[in-house]
Amino acid sequence: MGLAAYHRLTPMPTPLGPFYFYTKPGARGHADPRYALLAEGMEVQGRLLDLNPGVGLVSWTAAKKEAEVLAIEPSRAAFLALEKNADEAGFTARAGLPWEAPTYAFGTAALVLPAERGSRYTTLAVRAAARALMPGGRLWIAGEKKKGFDRYFKEAKSAIGYGQVVAREKGLRLAVLEKENHPELPELWRRFSEEIEGRHLVFRTLPGVFSEGRVDPASRMLLETLPRVEPGTPVLDLGAGYGALTLPLAARGARVTALEDDLASLRSLEASLMENHLEADVRHSDVDSALREEEKFAIVVTNPPFHVGGSVILDVAKAFVWAAHRHLETGGRFYLVANPFLKYEPLMEATFGNVRSVRTGRYKVLLSVR
Ligand code: SAH
Repeated sequence: MGLAAYHRLTPMPTPLGPFYFYTKPGARGHADPRYALLAEGMEVQGRLLDLNPGVGLVSWTAAKKEAEVLAIEPSRAAFLALEKNADEAGFTARAGLPWEAPTYAFGTAALVLPAERGSRYTTLAVRAAARALMPGGRLWIAGEKKKGFDRYFKEAKSAIGYGQVVAREKGLRLAVLEKENHPELPELWRRFSEEIEGRHLVFRTLPGVFSEGRVDPASRMLLETLPRVEPGTPVLDLGAGYGALTLPLAARGARVTALEDDLASLRSLEASLMENHLEADVRHSDVDSALREEEKFAIVVTNPPFHVGGSVILDVAKAFVWAAHRHLETGGRFYLVANPFLKYEPLMEATFGNVRSVRTGRYKVLLSVR
């Protein structure tokens, strides 16, 4: 597999006739049984809002049954498949965050609990879904028992109204609630500040971002390892989050292009840049999907997303390495920081023909030269 294969959407035949459903390994909602349970178990009345659609199985299924559907998705990777499914099945797909949905506008809302994004984000998504409903509208939620389904369901009942669990399949649960109350949204934004390279930086964050409340120590180690950059040096930050790498680099005078898949992270990065009067070119991007082929950089930095457990490096992290190679100028340098147990060396060696460990300790910083 290479970068082109990473970006390719996979068409899957479906039981609902001569149609294809497009998906992508690694994207939210790909081959995820929570989505299948929700798509099959839900009944739609009125317009449907799908608030964690991923690649779009729930929206797709409802649209095929003639429902009017709006799907709002924050991940660019998922959105690229979702958009294609929206064209195919006839629903509307929008890039956005759950709490940006219109209020009092839908008869039905569907939500696969985004528990992997933390409890604050999940609670907000549930409330946002309820706020989008007209009084008496129904909210369908699907989730995993071992990922806190019972707790979120209980919380949802007290915030929204009557509800019941309608399906239990192995570890999965499906429940429906009826809107009696219009819940409030708590304050979304948080902030924290850190001293980095003798400079006081303020970060502003939305729920669900990586390393909220403090800069990740691996990111700090990467920053300490980087050589001085001449002002104006073009630097690419892959998976920029709220900007733990982008801000200090921009403060050093680098011309930073920051790519980020997740909209909550991207908005946090934009707000953080503003707050510190710094500038960067911020793009909503699935790996390098927002870069043109000919855009090249002198330095690429990343603290890539990973899966703990097992020896498998996530497809996305592999694609980061390939994208770094593709967008570095000759002689350009790629710095990656990771946990020592993650085996990036063979992949970087195979991609660049060289790799060296420039710092080790709690984390390791690897360098490949183009
Ligand atoms: N650079 C930041 C964030 C590192 S965590 C820091 O040092 O704090 C990795 C980041 O990669 C996350 O913000 C995650 O949302 C982002 N990411 C995950 N998949 C991605 C993809 N397909 N394309 C771009 N970014 C992605």
